[in-house]
Amino acid sequence: MSKIIFATGNEGKMREIRAILGDMEVEVSSMKEAGLALEIEEDGVTFEENARIKADAVAAALAEQEKEQDCVVMADDSGLEIDYLNGEPGVYSARYLGEETPFSEKSMDLLRRLEDVPEEERSARFVCAIAAVFPDGETVIARGTIEGRIGHELRGGNGFGYDPIFYLPEYGRTAAELSDEEKNRISHRSRALEQMKEELKKRVN
Ligand code: IMP
Repeated sequence: MSKIIFATGNEGKMREIRAILGDMEVEVSSMKEAGLALEIEEDGVTFEENARIKADAVAAALAEQEKEQDCVVMADDSGLEIDYLNGEPGVYSARYLGEETPFSEKSMDLLRRLEDVPEEERSARFVCAIAAVFPDGETVIARGTIEGRIGHELRGGNGFGYDPIFYLPEYGRTAAELSDEEKNRISHRSRALEQMKEELKKRVN
């Protein structure tokens, strides 16, 4: 049985990861379950860099504490890229207008910045990068995206973050109007995880 430590404290992410990797012979633990509490500064300028920074920091902490030396350490970074705003808020999605500002306010601000922008220029995507550091030090990165466009109002009560303004034309709904199950099937995170699963299959078990 191989062990994966995922650098997140988010239970929703842990559930999604366990569900996707459920048919593999791996045990997945969160940072907390592995007994680690780290403040990691995400100062990269790409999703990939930030994911790698987090995974490296956790791998280094485990090595320092001589814990779990033979496990795979994974971390993710995600966000919303709006083409009309040259990719903003991007890697700053969580920090946009300040970490403490509610997402309804952040989203309203983005809608204001796109006021009068025509449909064809409202394209956007959620991006997720996952970095995995293997016991031999090798690092593998996977990226998943989901394409959509920015709506004109906040719609829907499911999901989190920018979901209420992220409209999916093929569903005729925003990401916040999808059930968790529907969203998890097509999300940037599940796409990145599926790719990472293929990489894991080559290296573990
Ligand atoms: P992190 O990867 O957990 O640091 O999340 C980055 C930020 O990106 C979140 O706080 C959200 O603002 C945004 N984000 C990432 N994925 C989603 C999503 O699926 N829906 C809505 N917002 C998201």
